[in-house]
Amino acid sequence: MWAATIVTAILGEATVRLTLLSGGVGGAKLARGLAAVNGVELTVIVNVGDDDRIYGLSVSPDIDTVIYTMAGREGPQGWGLAEDPFVAMKALDALPIDASFRIGDGDLATNLFRTDRLLAGWSLTWVTTALASAFGVAATILPATDDPLRTEVRIPEAGWLSFQEYFVGRSHADEVIDIRFRGAGFCRPAPGVMEALANCDAIIIGPSNPILSIWPILAVPGVADTIASHQSVVGISPLIGGTALKGPAHKVLQSLGVGSNTAGIISSYDGLLTDLLIDQSDVDDVVGGGQPRIHLTDTRMPDLEGSVKLAQTVVNLASSARRT
Ligand code: GDP
Ligand code: CA
Repeated sequence: MWAATIVTAILGEATVRLTLLSGGVGGAKLARGLAAVNGVELTVIVNVGDDDRIYGLSVSPDIDTVIYTMAGREGPQGWGLAEDPFVAMKALDALPIDASFRIGDGDLATNLFRTDRLLAGWSLTWVTTALASAFGVAATILPATDDPLRTEVRIPEAGWLSFQEYFVGRSHADEVIDIRFRGAGFCRPAPGVMEALANCDAIIIGPSNPILSIWPILAVPGVADTIASHQSVVGISPLIGGTALKGPAHKVLQSLGVGSNTAGIISSYDGLLTDLLIDQSDVDDVVGGGQPRIHLTDTRMPDLEGSVKLAQTVVNLASSARRT
């Protein structure tokens, strides 16, 4: 015991500071794994492009998915809380209102809290810190910005739609032919975001939807430039065999002409990556040498064990990743 303490004191604790960019499900599962790896000091910068006002409430779906997943309490459907009853929603179903955006009762409390605190003058960063703490999440969780930044997509049938009209209202079935981030020109990175990007050992871009979840974070002024100047930037592809495990990532990569393959993931990050981890099922898809270096592994995270295994691979890779 004493010997171990003395050795640690002499050698110093081997801490690795990682900053992860995340949307909802894919990024959240990796975040949970990274937080469980010994010696990792984790900051998660989360997409707020999906945020909206629903039933008068300020919802931040990706922030909540990250917090719930890191707490091991995420809902089986990829949003909301596990074992959450829907009493309030059933009552809403009897009223003349579009109730397609489902919020479980416990999840409703999260959204009531956020709405109340924002109206009281708190920033989204403060609200997020309070929620993470209430759910026992020790990592630092930061919204990309405290200012309004809203993703909108254009579809052939209806023109420009808010993200939630497209994603939940129309079940992300439409072809996306354009995308924009309203407010991006005027928003500022949330407090701590630029520091977390500049002062970490490696930036990790999680296996989130590159266009719908990561681009809104990169649209915050200063964020992409800071990532481009970092020595170690490791991306993880959300594609398995060229297809998203869940959601429309492959469809949107295709319809915007980026390509639903490894080359498409690389070009969607436009020179930011030093290393890219892809699933071994995409081995035939490996593109020529240079940067980013491509690494193959099993990127599926079906459970906590899978998340920790992938996270350990990411941590090992992060220590050798270097911009050339
Ligand atoms: P959303 O905001 O909830 O839509 O979630 P994200 O954008 O963070 O993540 C969606 C992406 O996560 C999809 O493209 C999935 O393919 C990817 N994803 C989900 N689970 C896994 C996994 O276990 N491994 C990998 N590599 N990708 C995953
Ligand atoms: Ca999302």
